[in-house]
Amino acid sequence: SGLDVYAVAGNPIAHSKSPAIHQRFAQQAGQQMYYGRLQPELNSFAQTAKSFFSAGGKGMNVTVPFKLDAQALADQVTARAQLAGAVNTLWMVDGKIHGDNTDGAGFVRDLLAQGIVIGKSRILLLGAGGAARGVIGPLLEQSPKSVVIANRSSAKADELIGLFANLAASKEVAIESRTLADLEDTQKTQHPFDLVINATAAGLSDQSPLSAQAVSNVFMPSSFAYDMVYGKTTAFMQQALQRGARISDGLGMLVEQAADAFLLWRGTQLASKIDPRSILAELRR
Ligand code: NDP
Repeated sequence: SGLDVYAVAGNPIAHSKSPAIHQRFAQQAGQQMYYGRLQPELNSFAQTAKSFFSAGGKGMNVTVPFKLDAQALADQVTARAQLAGAVNTLWMVDGKIHGDNTDGAGFVRDLLAQGIVIGKSRILLLGAGGAARGVIGPLLEQSPKSVVIANRSSAKADELIGLFANLAASKEVAIESRTLADLEDTQKTQHPFDLVINATAAGLSDQSPLSAQAVSNVFMPSSFAYDMVYGKTTAFMQQALQRGARISDGLGMLVEQAADAFLLWRGTQLASKIDPRSILAELRR
């Protein structure tokens, strides 16, 4: 008996907003649960997670740097988590640990909630790490016109093109890779983009992945610039604003991925009771 226990695991984890977000979902759904924080040592995620579940833990969110460890730990992983190459949500069924990835779906829902039309759009995705990989599948499902993946080093971008080539072809989406330096060349960009997503970690060190020269090739006033980082106006967002484009940080993605995790754990029939957008507005106040 007692409260159902959940946790978010990451390192560092002290500033995670996930406990506050999940407590608000529980309130909205009229449910009681406990949601805490776990900070495993860098080499002991599996041990921490196993202890958590054997002690009766119901579900776990996983954040930097443990999403690959979580995928390796899970006995069963959803198709979308496999494609994303990472797991951000774990739960236990009949003694087996299940893993899913709700980041990409949360990202797309945040875009749609902001009125962004993804179908037929030209998309530029900056970065080829875990965050980038996680959103490509859900973006392709929305049938954009094209997706250009641009990364500092080309090898990782090319790897992603290979992984998603079949899905892109089945959706009739043109998918190509570039280096960040290529974006300075108008021949290689051809046309500014409708949607520019910064999925690099550059914002964390107050840098933008876009050089001054690339900025004018990439943005037009009707562009929408999305930075997955939240809590600040990044150099990338400032560049977009200077070109007259609209911007968003990644806080909506965080809330929307949490909503999907909550529904996986607590039952999808609660979907009509929770209101992620109102929680997002509260977090921004
Ligand atoms: P990874 O370490 O997997 O990938 C980092 C990426 O950033 C690589 O493509 C790397 O390029 C690039 N990069 C790093 N520094 C620079 C720089 N100075 N200039 C240009 N490119 C750079 O990280 P993740 O993909 O896991 O995370 C990326 C960002 O997304 C983080 O800031 C994270 O906080 C955020 N995020 C937000 C979420 C949300 O819910 N809002 C969810 C998940 C992530 P290269 O390959 O050349 O090294």
